[in-house]
Amino acid sequence: MPRKKYDCLKCPGYCCSYPVIEVKDRDAARIARHFGLSLKQAEKKYFKSAHGYKRVMRRKKDEHFGKICQFFDTEARRCTIYEARPSTCRIYPGEGHCGYYDFLSFERAGQEDETYISTTYHIEN
Ligand code: SF4
Ligand code: SF4
Repeated sequence: MPRKKYDCLKCPGYCCSYPVIEVKDRDAARIARHFGLSLKQAEKKYFKSAHGYKRVMRRKKDEHFGKICQFFDTEARRCTIYEARPSTCRIYPGEGHCGYYDFLSFERAGQEDETYISTTYHIEN
């Protein structure tokens, strides 16, 4: 495996602010189990159908990105269900580097401010 060129612990969690965090059937079952809820209870509380997807994460307000996954701790800037997180989150960002982190590192170095948070980055597809 290539060495990771990003550090999520130094990042404000940009990827958790994506409007679509898909939750597949197995992910929903795992998250329900994590909270000791039935699948039906979890469906209502944590997920919704949106953007053409059967099930995505509900979101909440975030001071930096506007909205963010409801399971994101907006003070500590980290996932609160790391062990139970969906497969989408497990595989992201994929190939050893993260575009947002590259951009953030560049900005932080340029501004000589390790705490700088960029909210304007957009991934071009
Ligand atoms: S945007 Fe990149 S560096 Fe930041 S939390 Fe997500 S994967 Fe980690
Ligand atoms: S489940 Fe965790 S890793 Fe996935 S988007 Fe939500 S806060 Fe981020």
